[in-house]
Amino acid sequence: MRQHIPYGRQNITEDDIAAVVEVLRSDWLTQGPTIDRFEQAVADYCGVKYAVAVSNATAALHLACLAIGLGPGERLWTSPNTFVASANCARYCGGDVDFVDIDSQTYNLSVAELDRKLIAAEKAGILPKVILPVHFAGQSCEMEAIAALANNYGIQIIEDASHALGGSYRSQKIGSCEYSEMAIFSFHPVKMITTGEGGMIVTNRLDLYQRLKQLRSHGIIREPDQLTQTSPGPWYYEQQELGFNYRMTDFQAALGLSQIQRLNSFVERRQALAHRYREAFQALPVKLPNDFAYTQSSFHLYVIQLKLEMLKRSKSEICEILRNQGIGIQIHYIPVHTHPYYQKLGFHWGDFPIAEQYYQESLSLPLYPTLTETEQDQVIRSLMEVLQ
Ligand SMILES: *Cc1c(COP(=O)(O)O)cnc(C)c1O
Repeated sequence: MRQHIPYGRQNITEDDIAAVVEVLRSDWLTQGPTIDRFEQAVADYCGVKYAVAVSNATAALHLACLAIGLGPGERLWTSPNTFVASANCARYCGGDVDFVDIDSQTYNLSVAELDRKLIAAEKAGILPKVILPVHFAGQSCEMEAIAALANNYGIQIIEDASHALGGSYRSQKIGSCEYSEMAIFSFHPVKMITTGEGGMIVTNRLDLYQRLKQLRSHGIIREPDQLTQTSPGPWYYEQQELGFNYRMTDFQAALGLSQIQRLNSFVERRQALAHRYREAFQALPVKLPNDFAYTQSSFHLYVIQLKLEMLKRSKSEICEILRNQGIGIQIHYIPVHTHPYYQKLGFHWGDFPIAEQYYQESLSLPLYPTLTETEQDQVIRSLMEVLQ
């Protein structure tokens, strides 16, 4: 078997390691100044006012839903073509989840389908409180149109931008929150930059920012002007509501701070590799990712769709052969509503046909900044062979 090429992997330099070690030698392993610096760096990068670092993006989604006040019996709508965490966050709050089928060209939540579903939901008195668009593979959803619809119905928007740090929408960075209350990022090793585990919530709203900081750390308040009882001394703090320990450590923040210096070069490298795939696959029976004028993709993923009716082999045979050749392909995503947990909640195969059809045909190829052209050529050759 040839050398294993994964579908995604981190890029760690000696500078990254030195940055982490420096914090390890300092007084603050957690709740120290490096967290503030990393938050500021992400906020500056995205052109947004506030950022709150947390232990992972799943925690970020949970806190975002709590901060917006999603509660039992209230609804959150998201895309079925996402990681389960985008939907689970509503369940943590006792809320209900529903899905809006995807667009067959963008693989993101379909605006036309959202429009249709909102009209039906209003009639039935079951409008959602929150819409959570996911910028799949790093390509922005059509936020202007989604926000216009959401505004008509008084619905709030939280963006799952786990794939999309470094991407842009209508010449603004994804995470600017121009069209949303909050956006969240993931720093898992396969994502655009990493802190090992880690996540971030960004917002322009001071009230949400303060609430997120409180919820991140047990619901505890230390600021003298926000205490509800008379402070007996400088050591005093109050738990004012039920929060969590969702903090990121300072040595993780040091890694993130060091990584974000290279974010633009990561995006450029991913875009260049994506371009090479595009050139190489022109004649193959596959559908390549579409470009859209309104978004510059961060290319977290490179997803192709197999034209199965033109192929001799089935998708599972193709995946098996590629894996045996050391090509770490992945499938993004198993539609969330088809997982047993969501089927028990009443969803069925057939509920979101475009996402299901897309799932049958899609394949994510290796794409990450340190993928060499030699390795990429090996992926290209293997794919060409197997699709013959
Ligand atoms: C990775 C990912 C998450 C969860 O991120 P973690 O940091 O691993 O919790 C959520 N949503 C999407 C779309 C993701 O890709």
